[in-house]
Amino acid sequence: MADKTVKVHVSNLKKSFGKLEVLKDISMDIHEGEVVVLLGPSGSGKSTFLRCLNQLEIATEGEIIVDGNNITDKHTDINKVRENIGMVFQHFNLFPHKTVLENIMLAPVELKKMTKEQAKEKGLQLLKRVGMFDKADVYPNMLSGGQKQRVAIARALAMSPDIMLFDEPTSALDPEMVGEVLNVMKELAADGMTMVIVTHEIGFAREVADRVVFMDGGYIVEQGTPEEVIRNPKEARTIDFLNKVL
Ligand code: ADP
Ligand code: MG
Repeated sequence: MADKTVKVHVSNLKKSFGKLEVLKDISMDIHEGEVVVLLGPSGSGKSTFLRCLNQLEIATEGEIIVDGNNITDKHTDINKVRENIGMVFQHFNLFPHKTVLENIMLAPVELKKMTKEQAKEKGLQLLKRVGMFDKADVYPNMLSGGQKQRVAIARALAMSPDIMLFDEPTSALDPEMVGEVLNVMKELAADGMTMVIVTHEIGFAREVADRVVFMDGGYIVEQGTPEEVIRNPKEARTIDFLNKVL
């Protein structure tokens, strides 16, 4: 089989905050349509890694190439690259004074120069896709956490990204709302989206991930299929972590 397109290439990435070395040497290729789940204990550098991928954090050393753009090169227009990378956080960060639909229309109108009509049509389509069509005109404070997060996903999709990054998207949700958000993510994965997901939802990782990467102490400790890493972990640190979260 021909090589699948590499969407994200990371080599020898290091990131320090002052004296604290958080990412010590991370190399990873992420291919088009691949769903990668990052697991690891709190403080292991998962969020920092995701944030380096769209330069919310600047790498201290190493190279990151996204869609052929070297984002560790100062001359690269990071805003252009970011338009292709959607990010969903634990906290939804919706604009409280804007309706659901307005939240979704904002970036395409401001950054992609879409007309309001186009952005509205696209926004409504996306709201349908995440099961939130009937909430288009309400304000975020009227929504449950799960609904807010589905809107946040639709908002990220409004820029037509070809990579989506998720940082613990269900960690702040009441348990009964986790499933509705994971289902939206599952559908995205099935549609072929390239996704990097930090989550402690091991069942989701087993079902949806093409690859599971276990990080600890700023390194990738082990990686492989869910079967390999979750069912048959080899490293003591992975086993220890899974025993705590399973
Ligand atoms: P994880 O997402 O795996 O829990 P993080 O990437 O958030 O881990 O954090 C890894 C380490 O980096 C932690 O020790 C954290 O305190 C530290 N850290 C993260 N962001 C910053 C920052 N902006 N300034 C200083 N230290 C930070
Ligand atoms: Mg984190």
